[in-house]
Amino acid sequence: MQSYKIQQHKYDVVVVGAGGAGLRATFGMAAKGLSTACITKVFPTRSHTVAAQGGMSAALANMGEDDWRYHFYDTIKGSDWLGDQDAIEYMCREAIPAVIELEHYGVPFSRTEDGKIYQRPFGGMTVRYGEGGPAQRTCAAADRTGHAILHTLYQQSLKHDARFYIEFFALDLIMDADGVCRGVIAMDMAEGTIHLFRAHSVVLATGGYGRAYFSATSAHTCTGDGGGMVLRAGLPLQDMEFVQFHPTGIYGAGCLITEGVRGEGGYLTNSKGERFMERYAPNAKDLASRDVVSRAMTIEVREGRGVGAAADHIHLNLMHLGADVINEKLPGIAESAHIFAGVDVAKQPIPVQPTVHYNMGGIPTNYHGEVVRKAGDNPDTVVPGLFAIGEAACVSVHGANRLGSNSLLDLVVFGRAAANRAAEIIKPGTPHKNLPASIVDKALANLDRARYANGSTPTADLRLRMQRTMQEDASVFRTAEGLQRGVKRMQECHAAYNDVRVTDRSLVWNSDLIETLELQNLLDQALVTMVSAENRKESRGAQAREDFWTHDEAGNLGHEGKRDDENWLKHTICTVDDKGKTEIDYRPVHMYTLTDDVQVVPPKARTY
Ligand SMILES: Cc1cc2nc3c(=O)[nH]c(=O)nc-3n(C[C@H](O)[C@H](O)[C@H](O)COP(=O)(O)OP(=O)(O)OC[C@H]3O[C@@H](n4cnc5c(N)ncnc54)[C@H](O)[C@@H]3O)c2cc1C
Repeated sequence: MQSYKIQQHKYDVVVVGAGGAGLRATFGMAAKGLSTACITKVFPTRSHTVAAQGGMSAALANMGEDDWRYHFYDTIKGSDWLGDQDAIEYMCREAIPAVIELEHYGVPFSRTEDGKIYQRPFGGMTVRYGEGGPAQRTCAAADRTGHAILHTLYQQSLKHDARFYIEFFALDLIMDADGVCRGVIAMDMAEGTIHLFRAHSVVLATGGYGRAYFSATSAHTCTGDGGGMVLRAGLPLQDMEFVQFHPTGIYGAGCLITEGVRGEGGYLTNSKGERFMERYAPNAKDLASRDVVSRAMTIEVREGRGVGAAADHIHLNLMHLGADVINEKLPGIAESAHIFAGVDVAKQPIPVQPTVHYNMGGIPTNYHGEVVRKAGDNPDTVVPGLFAIGEAACVSVHGANRLGSNSLLDLVVFGRAAANRAAEIIKPGTPHKNLPASIVDKALANLDRARYANGSTPTADLRLRMQRTMQEDASVFRTAEGLQRGVKRMQECHAAYNDVRVTDRSLVWNSDLIETLELQNLLDQALVTMVSAENRKESRGAQAREDFWTHDEAGNLGHEGKRDDENWLKHTICTVDDKGKTEIDYRPVHMYTLTDDVQVVPPKARTY
């Protein structure tokens, strides 16, 4: 092994990630007097949160009837009952002060005539427990809400005394023999130096791993590095089988067209010009939840009613909205559609197809953001010194299917919750325990494994193989055969990491090396996703298995999945070792609430 000179840093807390979740935690912790560092591989305002378009949910009732309890109900139903109801209660109640707080920090929300925050309808959001029609609950800054929020959060961070380590790539967690997280080891990508960050708590806010798939709306940086680090630490990830396909990625390009388009009145049509969502979701129609709409589109294409030369996609129409609405409410997507599909949205429909968009699964936590694992009889044992928030985490408020606009909310609510918890459990300036020098050996050996990788497979080739496998075998609809084949193919991909070739051995701006480390993180998570999906013998939320689905007499897919609450109303947790051996276990879903303000919503049929 090459010997590295390691620079040491000591902080009360270290946050890894500067997206919405990481920034909210960073300045929250700094504001509480904790010495705080934030490590990020991209400049903060380039984090994927910047790309969020549609908005952030909160039952403000600015534009009609609403109540946070309706939001609580919708989120549980959207999750297909896999969400933890204590965490959902916490999030939906906190949503209201969280949005007001953002407004006070300076987020330039769009406005109603009377100057209130503008709210648009979004999928699965209703009033009176689904009985009273759609809710206007999604707070928006035109169709650039994530941009507005991320920039504002970065401004707040600069106001507080947090130290940023920008373009630093976190490699691995530092776990001691007692299973306590003591810090994180990272590489300064510009200088090629190695840094050990000691901390009483490490907060993983590293985002999702959408890039495990071939076609994804997420940035190329969404490689789930936090999840990879957690798996290498021997800890499990939760509910990884649940991958959200957004109904409206631009055909071919994969860029997102926000659900806000349908919120503003846009609708989908097939090759016959039919508004087919009326058949699949008679009440909510185009604003049914994402899993439902993505499946309906897939069925339309399979049954020969797709549009285009290959009849393999669907049209999204917003011509009828008129130039004023488009210019004021949806300027960004008009531009995207023009650039990536060559379409003038005022005159032509946008060609769209379901595209990977969000990971419901991730690092299991409680509603304070503390990472939990199963130990003996306690499925909620806290891993000392480790937090996870944002898309990297599985808290679990989204369960088997996330409702649009609940993620930006999740970021700020649980980023703040983690800051509050850290302030409760850490006394500023507490000295750090001495650690043996050998504590970094494993992480450095893993770095060297990639740096000196001398096989025959270029990183990009193996990545493509993994992405195609995931796209084919763990798609909108899944079959038993496809998943079994997928497990085998993903095991082979995972093993092929041993044969990877890195040509550049330097440490200075070595993108070949960084992409290889990212690939390792993706491979672990892709394998866990496939294995968890094969293992779950039911359809729930985003996991739609044809072998657990209704069919009509002709053998065509019906509209309903077969959910099995008796056997599968539980979280999957899964570990993987460096040989690719996976192990599955379960944690119970939290079917309780924190207060008497809301009652537990018992499972029932999920129709829109
Ligand atoms: C195109 C698009 C549109 C969306 N629109 C909406 C919407 O309108 N409403 C909504 O609610 N949700 C939306 N979502 C989902 C939501 O935006 C994301 O789930 C959310 O922004 C993720 O935020 P995050 O803070 O968890 O991570 P990210 O914003 O992805 O940030 C991850 C951070 O981790 C850092 N990082 C990662 N790995 C490392 C490493 N190894 N070392 C150091 N740093 C690291 C990165 O530098 C980055 O700062 C959208 C998602 C996409 C892709």
